[in-house]
Formats: sequence, C-alpha cells, structure tokens
Amino acid sequence: MARILDGKAVNQAILDELKPRIQHLSRTRRRPGLAVILVGNDPASEIYVGSKVRTCGQLGLLSEEMRLPGSTTTAELLAHIDTLNRRDDIDGILVQMPLPKHVDSRAVLLAIRPDKDVDGFHPFNVGQLVSNAPAPRPCTPAGVMELLRRYQIDPAGREAVVVGRSDIVGKPMALLLLHAHATVTVCHSKTRDLPAVCRRAHLLVAAIGRPAMITADYIQPGAVVIDVGMNRVYDRAEAERIARGAPAKLATFEKNGSVLVGDVHPGDMAQVSSAYTPVPGGVGLLTIAMLMANTVQSAESRLA
Ligand code: NAP
Repeated sequence: MARILDGKAVNQAILDELKPRIQHLSRTRRRPGLAVILVGNDPASEIYVGSKVRTCGQLGLLSEEMRLPGSTTTAELLAHIDTLNRRDDIDGILVQMPLPKHVDSRAVLLAIRPDKDVDGFHPFNVGQLVSNAPAPRPCTPAGVMELLRRYQIDPAGREAVVVGRSDIVGKPMALLLLHAHATVTVCHSKTRDLPAVCRRAHLLVAAIGRPAMITADYIQPGAVVIDVGMNRVYDRAEAERIARGAPAKLATFEKNGSVLVGDVHPGDMAQVSSAYTPVPGGVGLLTIAMLMANTVQSAESRLA
C-alpha cells in the first residue's frame, strides 16, 4: 500500500510552528503584516485571496486586503505598491495573479521590494534561488520541499523528474531539488517520450495543468509522486476515466457535477507509487502555509 503524504497534517504543523514566532514578535515588537492586492473580480482569485486573509486572521497576522477595480492602470497599481513598500508595518506584499491584460505584470513584479516579495517571484529573489542564497522562495515548490523534509524523504542522490517548467512551479521546483542534491530532469510539452523519461524518476513531480495525464506507464514502481496539479473536470467520460481505481472521484462528480483532480491519475498513483500526495489534501494546502512562513520570516529579518 502506498503511503499518503498528508498535506493537511503538514499544513497544520507548519502553522502551529509559526504561532509562537508570531506571538513573540507581537509581544516584543509588532505583528507581522501582509498586504494582498486583488485587481478585478476573477472568482478563483477572490477565493485564493479570501483564504490567505482568513489564514492571516487565524494566526494573528496583520492582513490588509486591497481590492482594486478591474480598470486599475499599471501606474495606479505601482503607486499602491510604492506606498506599501514604504510602510514599516507591512512585511509582505502579494499581488494576486493573473492581473487584467492591460496591466504590465512584469513592471508590477519588479516594483515590489525584494525583501517584501513573499511570493519569491522578483528577479532578484529568482537569482538568489539560482545561487542557493537566502531569500523568499516561491510558495508551492517550497511547500513540496517542506512536505518531503517532514516525511524524511531525502532527494539527495535520487533521480527527480519535474514535469512542467513554469516560473512559479516547475523551474523553482527543479532548482530546489537540485540544491537538495537530486539529479534533476525538467520536462515540458516538447519532451520526447515523456513516459520513458518519467519512469526514470525515483521522485516524480507533476506540475502540468492536465487532468490525470500521468498514468501508470509514467511511474516507476515504488517512486514517490508529488502531484501539484489542480484541475476541475466537468466532463463525465473524463471523470469515469479518472475514477478507474479511485471510485470516490466518480461519487464526488455525481454529487457536484464536477470533480477536482491532479495531473496524475489517482488510482494509478496509489497503485504504483510508494508514496504520493492526494488531490485535494496534498500540495494545495501548503502554498498558503509557506506564504505565511515567508511573511513571518520577512518580519523577523526586518525587525532583527
Ligand atoms: P503552466 O504555467 O501552465 O505550466 C504548465 C507546464 O506544463 C508548462 O511548462 C508546459 O510545457 C507543461 N506541459 C503542458 N502540457 C504538457 C504535456 N502534454 N506534456 C508535458 N508537459 C506539458 O502551469 P503552472 O502554473 O506551473 O501550474 C501547473 C499545475 O499546478 C496546474 O494544474 C495548476 O493549477 C497547479 N498549481 C497548483 C498550485 C497549488 O497551490 N497546489 C499552485 C500553482 C499551480 P511548455 O512550457 O512547453 O508549455
């Protein structure tokens, strides 16, 4: 039986460990502060921002939610960031992506002070990541590393394959695994014979955005599989394919008319791997936990 790597438990452990650090800062200096900016009213972004602000509240962090109309210009957004950059009570600034098309996302990313860039996306922090120097790390891959550490799965010496090369997940994931001494291969849509490359992996990370694309023939028996994907499936035939070996998925589909699935086939993953992250209940929860950790770390550094 494959072991389930429980993101819920790891999330709780990370948050529990942050609480005394936050209490200490609040008692001796001030509460750590996170500003979250949402431009427009994309429903998914509203849900993400809501969870971030709620978690800040649960932990006793100061959170400032700035909701701006979809018509906000780049210049207006930059002016808000400038104000937040200067404020002493704000340790982290997060601009919820995606931004409306007319906004220059690159300029926005560059405007955030690197030491307040709790998403770890500023080019300075990307450079720090490349050279393995301290800086806020992108939250989703940092959450995966935290999960591996807490389950004592040491990447050192293992063949790791990361499918996906995005700036927010795939690339930073590959770098973090490399710094942890794995032998890393990064795959993407042009990779030839992807199943064969994936089968080399002792540690397989899927960050693709294609529901249950990674099936049994991509997984080396006994590999550890980390499924970063979060995809909502509305199609019945697709839900039936995905529910093979994982009947609970079909039951959820029947009940809700859709089902949340990762990039790895859940039944195959449970059958072939030695350990895996389920979707939901795996990596998804860790992103917000690491955002909180980055904010607390930023406050500690700024107040030291
Ligand atoms: P993205 O920017 O769309 O990148 C997807 C990557 O997958 C690209 O590098 C793409 O290759 C590659 N890819 C697409 N189709 C492929 C195929 N058929 N074979 C091989 N590679 C393929 O996505 P992302 O932002 O990294 O997100 C990936 C997944 O993680 C999504 O499901 C997303 O919802 C999820 N996610 C979850 C969290 C979380 O908190 N758990 C956070 C962020 C993202 P090319 O570069 O060649 O196009």
